[in-house]
Amino acid sequence: MLEIFTSLLGSAEGGSPGGTFTIAYLLAGVLFIYSLGGLSAQETARRGIVAGLLGMTLALIITIVDDRIQAYSLILPTVIVGGVIGAVLAKRVAMTAMPELVAILHSFVGLAAVLVGISNYMDQALKAAADFEAQDYIHMGEIWAGVAVGGITFSGSVIAWAKLRGSVSGKPLLLPGRHVANALMGIFVILSAVPFMQVDSPSTPGMVWLLAMTAISLILGVHLVMSIGGADMPVVVSLLNSYSGWAAAAAGFMLENDLLIITGALVGSSGAILSIIMCRAMNRSIINVVFGGFGTGEGGAAPAAAGEAQGEVQETTADELAEVLRQSDRVIIVPGYGMAVARAQHLVHDFEQTLRDRGKEVRYAIHPVAGRLPGHMNVLLAEAGVSYEIVLEMDEINPDFEETDVVLVIGANDIVNPSALTDESSPIYGMPVLEAWKSKQVVIFKRGMATGYAGVDNPLFFYENTRMLFGDAKSSMEALVDRVRQG
Ligand code: NDP
Repeated sequence: MLEIFTSLLGSAEGGSPGGTFTIAYLLAGVLFIYSLGGLSAQETARRGIVAGLLGMTLALIITIVDDRIQAYSLILPTVIVGGVIGAVLAKRVAMTAMPELVAILHSFVGLAAVLVGISNYMDQALKAAADFEAQDYIHMGEIWAGVAVGGITFSGSVIAWAKLRGSVSGKPLLLPGRHVANALMGIFVILSAVPFMQVDSPSTPGMVWLLAMTAISLILGVHLVMSIGGADMPVVVSLLNSYSGWAAAAAGFMLENDLLIITGALVGSSGAILSIIMCRAMNRSIINVVFGGFGTGEGGAAPAAAGEAQGEVQETTADELAEVLRQSDRVIIVPGYGMAVARAQHLVHDFEQTLRDRGKEVRYAIHPVAGRLPGHMNVLLAEAGVSYEIVLEMDEINPDFEETDVVLVIGANDIVNPSALTDESSPIYGMPVLEAWKSKQVVIFKRGMATGYAGVDNPLFFYENTRMLFGDAKSSMEALVDRVRQG
C-alpha cells in the first residue's frame, strides 16, 4: 500500500520521489501558514483548523513513505496507539482542563527533542574523529541546541502543567540568589558545548557532557517556571509553546527534515509573538519572563491571604437583579474562568439574547488573560453561538464602563481587580484590568469569597456599587433568565 503511494508520488513528478517529497513538504508548510492565518480571527478559525489538519495528514503520509523509514512494524503500531490515546484524551478533556493538556503536550515536544538529540549523538559518536568535517561540527551544535531547548521545555512544561492543575502551588518560589543560580546554569549550558565538541580528544567523553548539560537544562526549566507567580502563568504557557517550536525546529535540523524545521519555526515564532502580545497586555517585560521570577517583586510581595476581611459585602438575589436589569439600558457581561467551570456560556447567551430582544444594549468584555488559555473566553462564547460583533477586547470596551448601567461579572476575579492599578505591593500590580467598577452597578456571580488564580484579594467585592450573587454561575444564570423572562 505504502509502496503504491510512493510510486504514485514519484510518477506525479516524472519519477522523482525526492522532488515530490519536497513539493509535498512545502505544500504542507503552506497549509500550516494558511492555518495560522485562519486561526487569527474567529470567523475564519474553522477554515484554519481544516487547513492545519490537511497539512498534518499530508506531513504524516509523506514522512511515513520516506525511503529512509524502514521500521514500519514499529512505527505504524506506535502511530495508531498514540493517535487513539490522543483522540480519546482530547475528546474527554473538559474545557477547563485544556490549558493543562496544552502544557503537557508542549512537554512531549521537549522530551522528543532531547531523545532525538541523544540518539543522534550516539549515531554521530560512531564516526571516527578523523572523519569529522565542518558539517559534522554544525550537526553537533544542532544536537546541543536541540537538547538544551528541549530539556528546558520538557521540565518547564511539566511544572506549568502541575501548576495549572493545582498539584503545585501557584505562588512563586523565590529562592535566595535565584537570578545568580539561573545565570550560572545558563552559562554552564552554553559553555559545556565546548568540551562536548572536542571530538578529536579521547579524554573528553561527549556523552557525559551531553547528559550533564541535559540534567542542568532540566533543572533550569523547573526553576524558571517555579519562580513565576500565578497571574503571570499565561505568558509562561505561551513562552513554553514558543520553546517547544524551537525544540521541534532543532529536531528538524538533526533529522534533516525540512517540514519539521518549517513547522517548528512557525510554532516558535508565533508563540514568541503571542508571548510579546500577552506581555504588553499584562504590562510585563518579556526579558523578565524569559529569566523567570517576574511580577513578584524582589522582596516577594506576598499575596494577600484568601478571604482577608476588607469590610462587608452586599448580597443580591436573582429577583432583585432582574428588577435592576428591567430599569437598565446598557449592560456589559465580563466572563471569567468560573463561567468555564460552571459551563454557563449557553445560558449566558440565552440571557443576553433575552435582554437584547427587549431592546437593551448587551456586550461582552474580554480580558486577554481571562480563563486559563489565551482566547479561552472567545472560544466558549463562539461555541455558545454569541455574535462576534458584541464581543469586545479590553482596550475597546474599557472607556465604555462609565456609561454602563450594570456589569455582570460571571466567574471572573483577577481580571476585574482594581488593586492591579492601585496597590504597588500586589503581585498583579501593573496588569491592566477591566474597569467594571466605573459602571453604575457591578454584580459578581461566584460561589464564595475565594480568590482567583493569582491568589490575591479583590477589593471590588466590597465597593459601594457592588453586589454579590453567590452560587454556581450556571444555577444563578438559570434563575436570572427565568426571572427576566417572567418580567
Ligand atoms: P480567576 O481565576 O481570577 O477567578 C475565577 C473565579 O471564578 C474564582 O474567584 C472563583 O470563585 C469563581 N468560580 C469558580 N468556579 C465557579 C462556578 N462554578 N461558579 C461561579 N464562580 C466560580 O479568573 P479570571 O478569568 O478572572 O482570571 C484569570 C486568571 O488566570 C488570571 O490570574 C490569569 O493570569 C490566570 N491565567 C490565565 C491564563 C490564560 O492564558 N488566560 C493561563 C494561566 C493562568 P469561587 O470559588 O468563590 O466561586
